[in-house]
Amino acid sequence: MRAMVLSAARGPLVEREMPQPQPATGQVLIHVHACAVCRTDLHVVDGELTDPKLPLIPGHEIVGTVAAVGKSVERFAVGDRVGIPWLGWTCGECSFCLSGRENLCDRARFTGYQIDGGYAEYTVADERFCFALPPSYGDAEAAPLLCAGLIGYRALRFAGDARRIGLYGFGAAAHIVAQVARYQGREVFAFTRAGDADAQSFARGLGAAWVGGSEEIPPEPLDAAIIFAPVGGLIPAALRATAKGGTVVCAGIHMSDIPAFPYRDLWEERTIRSVANLTRRDAEEFLALAPKIPVKTTVHERPLAEANQALAALRSGTVQGAEVLMPGPAT
Ligand SMILES: [Zn+2]
Ligand SMILES: [Zn+2]
Repeated sequence: MRAMVLSAARGPLVEREMPQPQPATGQVLIHVHACAVCRTDLHVVDGELTDPKLPLIPGHEIVGTVAAVGKSVERFAVGDRVGIPWLGWTCGECSFCLSGRENLCDRARFTGYQIDGGYAEYTVADERFCFALPPSYGDAEAAPLLCAGLIGYRALRFAGDARRIGLYGFGAAAHIVAQVARYQGREVFAFTRAGDADAQSFARGLGAAWVGGSEEIPPEPLDAAIIFAPVGGLIPAALRATAKGGTVVCAGIHMSDIPAFPYRDLWEERTIRSVANLTRRDAEEFLALAPKIPVKTTVHERPLAEANQALAALRSGTVQGAEVLMPGPAT
C-alpha cells in the first residue's frame, strides 16, 4: 500500500510503498477513503510532541470501510463505514479509565502518534475505538468531525452554560464548534489573527455575532473562551476579554509558553483549564448531534501524496475549514 511516512521529526513525510497491515485479534482492517489533517499532526511532524513511534504514518481523523476483520471482532463487518479518532487504545483498568476519564488513561495510545494512522491506503484499528458515521456525510465531509469536531465539542462542554463564547483561532475545530454553539443558542465571538479578512468573513458566514483580532476586547465581555490556536499569549488575552467567573478553555495539545500576566486578570473567579484527548462517550454524543444541527464542514480535498502541502497550508494559517487527504482507490 502507499503511505506518507515520517521517519524523523522535522523531516518531510515521504511517500513509501509499505506492507498492508493485518488485523490482529479485536482489530479491523480499514480501507481509508479520507483522512483529515489536524494541527496535532503538525505538532508531531514538527517535533513539538516528542513521543511518536518512528517511522510513523500520521493521521487520526480517518474515514474508511472495513476491508477485513481480525478474530473476535463483533461490532463491525466487512463493508461497514467507520471513523477512527485520536484515542486508539486505553487500558480499561487504571483509575482514570475506571472513573469515566479514559481520555486521561495512564497507558493510552493514540492514532497517528503511537499507532500508525490514516495517511495511507489502509490502516488497522481496535474495533472498540471505531465509530459508525452519520450517513448524511460524505467521506471527506465526515473526516473533520473525528477530531476537530470531537475535541471541539468536548472543549465546548467545558465552557459550561456560557452564553457569549469566544473562539480564538478560527480553523477546522472552530468552524464546527461555532455551528454547535449557535445551535445551542449561544453568541459566538470569533478571534482571528489581526487583519485576517478571509478568516473573519468565514467566521461571519458561520454565524459569528462579532469578529475581530485576537488582542481586541469585544464589545461585551465573554462568558467563556476556547483557544484553538497554539499560542500561549492568547491565554492572558482571553482572560482580559472574559467576564467575572468566566472560563478560558485551552483545546490544543501543544502551545507556546504562556507569558507572565498580572493576577488581577485571573482574579474574580476566572478559570483556565485544558482539554485533553477525548472519550468514546464524547464521540458517540457528538456524532449523534452533528447531523441534527446539521453541522456542515468545509473541506479541501487533496490526493494522499500532497500531505506535506496540506501540512504547510495548515502551518501558514490560510486554510478555511479542513484539509482532507483522499488516498483514492486501492492499487
Ligand atoms: Zn486532532
Ligand atoms: Zn487506563
